[in-house]
Amino acid sequence: MSVYKTIDFSRYSSIKIGPTVDVFVIEQGHKHDLHDAYLIGGANNLLLSPTPPPLMMLSKQYDYIYIQNGRLVIGAATPGGKVVSFCKRHNIANFEFMAHLPGTVGGMIKMNAGLKEWEIFKHLYALKLASGYCLKEDIVHGYRYCCLDSVVYEAQFHMETGFNAKHLELFRSMRSNQPKESSAGSCFKNPKGDYAGRLIEAVGLKGVRRGAMAFSELHANFLVNFGGGTFEDATSLIVLAQERVQEKFGICLEREIVVLDRNEHAKMT
Ligand SMILES: Cc1cc2nc3c(=O)[nH]c(=O)nc-3n(C[C@H](O)[C@H](O)[C@H](O)COP(=O)(O)OP(=O)(O)OC[C@H]3O[C@@H](n4cnc5c(N)ncnc54)[C@H](O)[C@@H]3O)c2cc1C
Repeated sequence: MSVYKTIDFSRYSSIKIGPTVDVFVIEQGHKHDLHDAYLIGGANNLLLSPTPPPLMMLSKQYDYIYIQNGRLVIGAATPGGKVVSFCKRHNIANFEFMAHLPGTVGGMIKMNAGLKEWEIFKHLYALKLASGYCLKEDIVHGYRYCCLDSVVYEAQFHMETGFNAKHLELFRSMRSNQPKESSAGSCFKNPKGDYAGRLIEAVGLKGVRRGAMAFSELHANFLVNFGGGTFEDATSLIVLAQERVQEKFGICLEREIVVLDRNEHAKMT
């Protein structure tokens, strides 16, 4: 029997934009590939249009964490906060950066999420995919991306002892320049040798607002929603920043936010 969950993305997504849709839930034992529908995690990096493609998500059965044969085994639907609590309880090092990183382990793997030099691939051992286990060495990855065209069901990590509470404080302080308003994190990836925030500011868009959406005064690379912001407001600011930065610096700003729109390719790069 197929299971769907009705989700209101204007509440569920971190940027608080999107329609209410039925999302297909992948239960354990049922394998799906990415041709079936678009896979979501915690929607902390997503911007949904009023007409998104069909969506699917992992069920709560993939929210688990345990130690096996000296490795940390984590289901892909497990939230980062739960990983940090587990590591604290078991005195495990290297996962402290997840304390302030919203999302599930599956979403973090796909985005190779992290803070500065701490990123999720660093201590990864292998991923469980529909085709079986895949070692980290066989997955092309880099700054905020990995080349994976399949659902991640589970991630296994190398383990070291020594949970570091001082790192928690460090990561918390690294967040102090981030706005409190709803957002999907960084809007654009940093181009090599530069900062997207600096470029947005340099083309005069820091603090610029369309409807209830704006490039934050606090950190220009955060597209924030003051409440009731729309997909159109958000995308018009994204395109405006890309055009201005291209015009002034000849740099193509690549989105970090994933835009989900059935007609996306007609409208945006
Ligand atoms: C306030 C704020 C601050 C942030 N700061 C940072 C930061 O400092 N560093 C950083 O890296 N990110 C940051 N982010 C972005 C976000 O935390 C990460 O991108 C995170 O990885 C998103 O996880 P998610 O579960 O919400 O994934 P989603 O947003 O739901 O999905 C993101 C991508 O992952 C894919 N995906 C999801 N689950 C799976 C799976 N099981 N298998 C395969 N693919 C999957 C989706 O298809 C999509 O392409 C921030 C976001 C917010 C809102």
